[in-house]
Amino acid sequence: MPDLQHDTVILARLGEITLKGLNRGKFERRLIENISRRLRRIGSFSVVQAQSRVWIEARDNQQDLEAALGHVVSVFGVVSASPVWRFRGDLDMLLAQAVAFARTQVDPARVQSFKVESRRGNKQFPLTSPEISSRVGEAIMVALSDRLRVDVHQPDFTVYVEVRDTICLYARVVQGPRGLPVGTGGHGLLLLSGGIDSPVAGYMMASRGMELDAVYFHAFPYTSDRAREKVLALADILTAYTGRLTVHIVNFTDIQIILRDHCPPDMLTIVTRRMMMRIAARLAEKVRAKVLVTGESLGQVASQTLEALLTTDTVVAMPVFRPLIGLDKNDTVDLARRIGTFETSILPYEDCCTVFVAKHPKTHPSLADAVQAEEGLDIEGLVGQAMTLIEEVAL
Ligand code: ATP
Ligand code: MG
Repeated sequence: MPDLQHDTVILARLGEITLKGLNRGKFERRLIENISRRLRRIGSFSVVQAQSRVWIEARDNQQDLEAALGHVVSVFGVVSASPVWRFRGDLDMLLAQAVAFARTQVDPARVQSFKVESRRGNKQFPLTSPEISSRVGEAIMVALSDRLRVDVHQPDFTVYVEVRDTICLYARVVQGPRGLPVGTGGHGLLLLSGGIDSPVAGYMMASRGMELDAVYFHAFPYTSDRAREKVLALADILTAYTGRLTVHIVNFTDIQIILRDHCPPDMLTIVTRRMMMRIAARLAEKVRAKVLVTGESLGQVASQTLEALLTTDTVVAMPVFRPLIGLDKNDTVDLARRIGTFETSILPYEDCCTVFVAKHPKTHPSLADAVQAEEGLDIEGLVGQAMTLIEEVAL
């Protein structure tokens, strides 16, 4: 009987990153850094990359591994991850370990079906992949015939065997979020409201590797402190995907009052949005973000018609990314549920646009309408004033 020592580690698989040619190293290093940073919150882990995979090992107690797995599968760039038994040895060792591993999968309450799937990266190993599967399956059946039966079509569980320079056994494959590691896709400024859409927009850009700052326009006392807390709660949920996130809270009250007193009511929403965009663009320059990100979707509300979007775009020199532009609201809601922001987004606190909203906003404003509505406003002065009224919350 061989000595059945093994390490229990997490194996994370990478997807799109492995398609990167010369840049691949940069993407992999960033991914490792992002995983390491995430795990630092819960313990001491080593994270190393080998053969297009990332291996995560607890430095001390193994108990943290399940929590670590949960974190690993929320890091963009990870396609899936598995807790694995890892060891070195020959066929006898593999068979003994596989039997011990299968025992850990057995459900005492019922007879289960299983199958074995093998991959052989190490061509020195004397058996082919199908031969490995059949020998391992046979060994497990001999040892556990009263508990298990083979079903290659719809097994209750699969024992995966991978033979490389080490041998790995695992049964669970937990899906990751895919995408690219945050920090490889430039830097954007997310306009984050307390609604359903903008957190999802942030998630989508982060999934393409974009690092984010967030800006929230707060109009206290028209919007309550609870609205502010709600936005911070949403930002906090987003950090699970984005990593560190700074929320810049703009005190927008005085500006909204000036705009309300100055503009025709049916143009107020557009003028307010143009002002938000200008301030956001100025802030973006300050934090070195190169693009603005919003949760707008074509036609969703009056301020999101094509004309309205064009009218707001013209006030900024940088591009505006709207990752939800072609998405149905129901699909956005599904995404919000999946990423865990939905329940917070639907808390009933008003946002600053609804406080001053007109009954019948102009749905197809021309640029000339907007310029006319803003005539006489000291735009530059208002933007400058807003920049002095920003509170930073680093999450
Ligand atoms: P959301 O659900 O994201 O609030 P929405 O459908 O309610 O979107 P609007 O309220 O018109 O639409 O806002 C459109 C976009 O403008 C938002 O997705 C967000 O990016 C930005 N935005 C709106 N209000 C604010 C705010 N108070 N602070 C920061 N950004 C905002
Ligand atoms: Mg909103």
